[in-house]
Amino acid sequence: MQKKVVILGGGYGGLLTALTARKYLGANEAPITLVNRYPSHQIITELHRLAAGNLAEKAVALPLEKLLRGKDVNLNINTVKEIIPDEHRVVLADGTSLDYEVLVIALGSETAFFGIPGLQEHSFVLKSVDDANRIRAHVESCIQEYSKTKNKADATFVVGGGGLTGIELIGEFADEIPALCKKYGVSFDEISLYVVEAAPTILPGFPEDLVERAQTSLGARGVKFITGVPVTKMEATTVELKDGSKIETKTMVWTGGVQGNSVVANCGIEVNRGRATVNEFLQSTSHEDIFVAGDSAVVMGPEGRPYPPTAQISWQMGEAIGYNLFAYLKGGKMEEFKPVFSGTLGSLGRKDAIATIGENKTKLKGIPASLMKEASNVRYLAHINGLFSKLY
Ligand code: NAD
Repeated sequence: MQKKVVILGGGYGGLLTALTARKYLGANEAPITLVNRYPSHQIITELHRLAAGNLAEKAVALPLEKLLRGKDVNLNINTVKEIIPDEHRVVLADGTSLDYEVLVIALGSETAFFGIPGLQEHSFVLKSVDDANRIRAHVESCIQEYSKTKNKADATFVVGGGGLTGIELIGEFADEIPALCKKYGVSFDEISLYVVEAAPTILPGFPEDLVERAQTSLGARGVKFITGVPVTKMEATTVELKDGSKIETKTMVWTGGVQGNSVVANCGIEVNRGRATVNEFLQSTSHEDIFVAGDSAVVMGPEGRPYPPTAQISWQMGEAIGYNLFAYLKGGKMEEFKPVFSGTLGSLGRKDAIATIGENKTKLKGIPASLMKEASNVRYLAHINGLFSKLY
């Protein structure tokens, strides 16, 4: 008998689940439907470049229809509204619903606003291609406006949160905004770029010398750092900090953290702080017919701490689930998820980067780290379908 598989999400976890499952499961054995909010698989690790205008949209928004062509996967472009595990049913935003025998949840994470007043209403976030396009258009319109009005709020760009997302974005701003200034006859010296970080240093958890490198490299390109002071409020043209100081700006990109997806957190499966708890085969600990990939799940590492919610882990989870779906449906032996953590690569703009590589966290900076970052993107694109040459 055919078993219906529904995959929610076409990001790293969902796409890799679908592609891997089809290596083992014929279309006549298990019809697979993949639901995604956008028609594209988004390379979110490169969104900072799109947001600053250093990359074309087609390089980060790969059409799912093309990626899944010939794979016998039904693509449903729709937003997931509700998961009802006890009825084995998913409700979509257009009012339709999908029944499943096995469900894979790979819906990613959401931006955490921590209840900070005004933040959700007035800040920008960087979670999708649309978000990145919005930032890019807004930054340009501010600089254009500044050329006419000389209003300081138009010339001030703030990144709230100095984790990797914020630091990668400010690096691109530092490299790309000078060209925009030239376009509108504004001197780059009149532009202010800030990172506000609540922790004592940017990039908490990174080795000290790499933090130092990031700060020096970005500082030399005009970035100012305010550390040890959290953002506490935002209004249309001001960001307020805990020490009472205010920054006048029309642009704060909020990169202060992520949290579990609310659809997952509220659906009745077992969760830990909004992220689904899973067993060693990546099945929900409360529902064995639900597998969970990527940021929607929390996977504990050997030291009893959760693995970070990153693309490389999501991708590997998708592959593991792709195989385990086959084993589960065929009554075979599922494989334990054993991720390979190849390290962390963070760009500091076009020409600089920092990295910790491998289990022993070998440190890299500068061109070798930049090249590794580029290579990891190419490797991923080549892996998902050899599409690289066709899309660039
Ligand atoms: P994060 O949680 O890693 O960083 C958020 C930062 O915001 C923290 O440093 C935190 O102290 C700060 N913050 C929180 N509240 C604040 C406040 N009120 N005011 C000022 N600062 C505040 O979030 P992220 O950077 O979006 O990263 C999310 C995950 O994705 C992480 O696991 C990260 O490692 C991963 N990531 C990896 C890469 C990469 O590998 N290149 C790039 C981006 C993100």
